[in-house]
Amino acid sequence: MHRLAKLDHAHVWHPFTQMRDWLKREPVVILEGHGTILRDAKGREYLDANSSIWTNLHGHNHPKINAAISRQLKKIAHSSTLGFANEPASLLAEKLVYAANSKLKTQNSKLEKVFFSDDGSTAMEVALKLAFQYSWRIRSASCPSALMKKFPPRFLSLDGAYHGDTVGAVSVGHIDLFHKACSSLLFKTDKVMSPYCYRCPFNRAKPERADARNYRKCNWECVSLVEKKFSAQKRKGNPCAAFVFEPLMQGSAGMIPQPHGWLKQVSEIARGHGALLIADEVMTGFGRTGVAPVSNPIAVQAEQKTRDRRDACPTSFACHQENVQPDFLCLAKGMTGGYLPMAATLTTREIFDAFLGEYGEFKTFFHGHSYTGNQLGAAASLASLEILQSEKSIQMRINLETVLREELKSLWLLPNVGDVRQTGLVAGIELVKNWRTREPFDLRERAGIRVCEAIAKRGVLTRPIGNVIVLMPPYCTTTAQARKMVSALREAVAEVFRAG
Ligand code: PMP
Repeated sequence: MHRLAKLDHAHVWHPFTQMRDWLKREPVVILEGHGTILRDAKGREYLDANSSIWTNLHGHNHPKINAAISRQLKKIAHSSTLGFANEPASLLAEKLVYAANSKLKTQNSKLEKVFFSDDGSTAMEVALKLAFQYSWRIRSASCPSALMKKFPPRFLSLDGAYHGDTVGAVSVGHIDLFHKACSSLLFKTDKVMSPYCYRCPFNRAKPERADARNYRKCNWECVSLVEKKFSAQKRKGNPCAAFVFEPLMQGSAGMIPQPHGWLKQVSEIARGHGALLIADEVMTGFGRTGVAPVSNPIAVQAEQKTRDRRDACPTSFACHQENVQPDFLCLAKGMTGGYLPMAATLTTREIFDAFLGEYGEFKTFFHGHSYTGNQLGAAASLASLEILQSEKSIQMRINLETVLREELKSLWLLPNVGDVRQTGLVAGIELVKNWRTREPFDLRERAGIRVCEAIAKRGVLTRPIGNVIVLMPPYCTTTAQARKMVSALREAVAEVFRAG
């Protein structure tokens, strides 16, 4: 065993990992990365098919991000935003605000203020605490304090939701496997059905060899349930304060894509009931969900010709693809291009203003982290945003999305593939015992894990979510590399289930 693998086995406890299984085999020790390729301590090369757990955007060792970090390093690596401003964080806040508003056709709440933190969980935690305190302040103006204590602001989120691992984020999460073990530590929240067309009890369509969203037979019962949930909560005298969701696709729930129009409808319902919208774009942000509102290359090219380059660039956020503007936009993972842990929670002036007052009123938002607004992270993020908005990146993403769409079609030939769902540059492939019945594998059968092990033997790395295999390549992935990812998956599925 490689000496680094031995040290890992001796001392490192890995996240979301059954360490007894981990200790049974020699781990892959990553030493280097270039573009989509990762190289391990034994000199073997792999394709990074899940962008290093959904973080990397433009490839590893990108010269522009490397240069931006080096330039910043010559000045300073970190100084605190508790008490001081800094150069790259100020510049980045301006760019994020521009990106979060410029593509929108609605006059709704402009996102003007940026609260920096460290990762997806903390970005969510900030949004939840701000929304809670804001709602409390607004409602307590007209509500007796005894009633406020009895009915504190409540959050509604989606079934299967995952928003991070800090206590607030876990409280709005609804994955029993992850969250049950510490349920008594959490505050109470409500959940509502998510639009999981492939396994929706309201979908009357028999399984077909196509994305379930495209052949579903239903009457948008999932949307009616959202309306019902809000109404019921209002009748209880404690209207829902905020609706928390991942737009267009729920990631850790199993790459569950929303049918077109769902997001718009439920956002309008939530707003109609006076709830704040908290959009978790930790996974979907920065272009993951595709280039254009309709992912239409011709429309994008036409737009590029008629406007200046900055305006021609498509939206970076999933919400905007359905013209929804949230009150909180939570960003992390890809923000630095996948280089450094840094996150941001964007919000409106209205929320910001509710925290203004004389010092002695103590309306301050008492929250912050040591590395908030870190200069290296901000410098990397600025470089990453510039690459994201370049014509080259837009073109690469259009090509990659098209290649993936074409290649993924071949998976329908496999009887153990039940659903292939792609939204932009993200694909979830759901493994089943029998596609005609949609019968799932028991998690103990480790179907997803076994398939990913077989994919790794073919030089491609990704990680399953239960029975769902994720493909989420970095944007620099070439056509040949994307083909290799899908063919490795195809061969792996065939091998694992042939073996029984
Ligand atoms: N929200 C979503 C949608 C996520 O996918 C994740 C992480 N997978 C998080 C929040 C938490 O992010 P982090 O792991 O950076 O804390």
